[in-house]
Amino acid sequence: MKAVVSLNSGSSSIKFSLFALDPQGQLMLSATGKIDKIGIAPSVRARTVDGTTLLEREWPDGTSLSHADLLTELFAWAADHPLKDREIIAIGHRVVHGGAEFAAPRLVDAALIGKLEDLCPLAPLHQPHNLAAIRAIAQLRPELPQVACFDTAFHHDKPVIASRFALPRALHDQGIRRYGFHGLSYEYIARRLAEIDPPLAAGRVIAAHLGNGASLCAMMAGRSIDTTMGFTALDGLMMGTRSGSLDPGVVLHLLTQMGMSAAEVEDLLYRKSGLLGVSGLSSDMRTLSACEAPEAEEAMALFAWRAGREAGGLLSSLGGLDGIVFTAGIGENDAGIRSRICRRLEWLGLRIDECANITNATLISLPGSAVKAYIIPTDEERMIALHTLSIVREKAT
Ligand code: ADP
Repeated sequence: MKAVVSLNSGSSSIKFSLFALDPQGQLMLSATGKIDKIGIAPSVRARTVDGTTLLEREWPDGTSLSHADLLTELFAWAADHPLKDREIIAIGHRVVHGGAEFAAPRLVDAALIGKLEDLCPLAPLHQPHNLAAIRAIAQLRPELPQVACFDTAFHHDKPVIASRFALPRALHDQGIRRYGFHGLSYEYIARRLAEIDPPLAAGRVIAAHLGNGASLCAMMAGRSIDTTMGFTALDGLMMGTRSGSLDPGVVLHLLTQMGMSAAEVEDLLYRKSGLLGVSGLSSDMRTLSACEAPEAEEAMALFAWRAGREAGGLLSSLGGLDGIVFTAGIGENDAGIRSRICRRLEWLGLRIDECANITNATLISLPGSAVKAYIIPTDEERMIALHTLSIVREKAT
């Protein structure tokens, strides 16, 4: 049976999913897995869709296997595992930044890798790792088509005004513009919402992707018209370890008055801020919710306040609001945070059904609420597999 693999490669983990092609040519999830704690104490786990463990392996603390080394291990194992009858026909990758040029997924070649490398400074937490996985597979299986699926692409056609900074025009032309991210997640949400509630999908919707990275997307009839992330995935909402929007004067002050280097400021804004920085405890929402420290409460309150404030900005772009969709780790699971954010939008006539909310139901607004609220689990991996398959089929015709 033919199959497509989706890879989502981060700084310390690689998530993978195997989708088999059924006789009708539809993608069926067969297995998922994760290589975790790369560079610390690596482990790899894979399970079939019904939960059967396929692979479980751990390496001792301090094992310095790279992304490429661990992918090599995975491929060696895959050659002789219980799903080996699946013939992998292509691998799709999440690539965070596609810059101004890439509005759609692309087949990977050396020229594309070169262009994507130039974008690494714009997504230092993600892009180098995305490319490391692509390069590793090109070495391991050079005959296998690889497809790059960009997180920026869904936002590519938003109005120019939503792409501009109030900076001199020449800088916009040099690529300093608001791109937007989490596009694979938003694209999937737009598709699912069209199945679940077609009239709402045709209207004005804010999708809230709230995970370790977090952003909001203003969707009009299923297309992105504005979003909270901009030039980099540092902009907009407060996140697990990222600051989100900041007075640019703070950055100047850190550099010129506090003697921090550019690398230190980058580390501060990407890795030491957000929930972690404000709480001083953890970047993980579950840990903070379970904690009684006032700093944890303040971090969660700020997270919701910032989300409400940024949603207010998107309301102006949308000219009102018909619905909000919560997704990703926090959006799908944290009833308390959803409730806090919805309360900030109560003035719009959004009435949350707390019973539905607490049980993570799909529709969590009350009947008659002027704004509907949904929880829709995201599936970036499926979106990557769908794009990969369609590019491979295009190539074959
Ligand atoms: P990533 O951006 O790394 O893919 P996720 O979408 O997995 O992140 O989201 C991670 C966040 O979701 C963490 O803050 C985590 O605490 C939170 N989260 C995951 N599951 C739950 C849960 N059951 N309840 C509350 N928060 C959760």
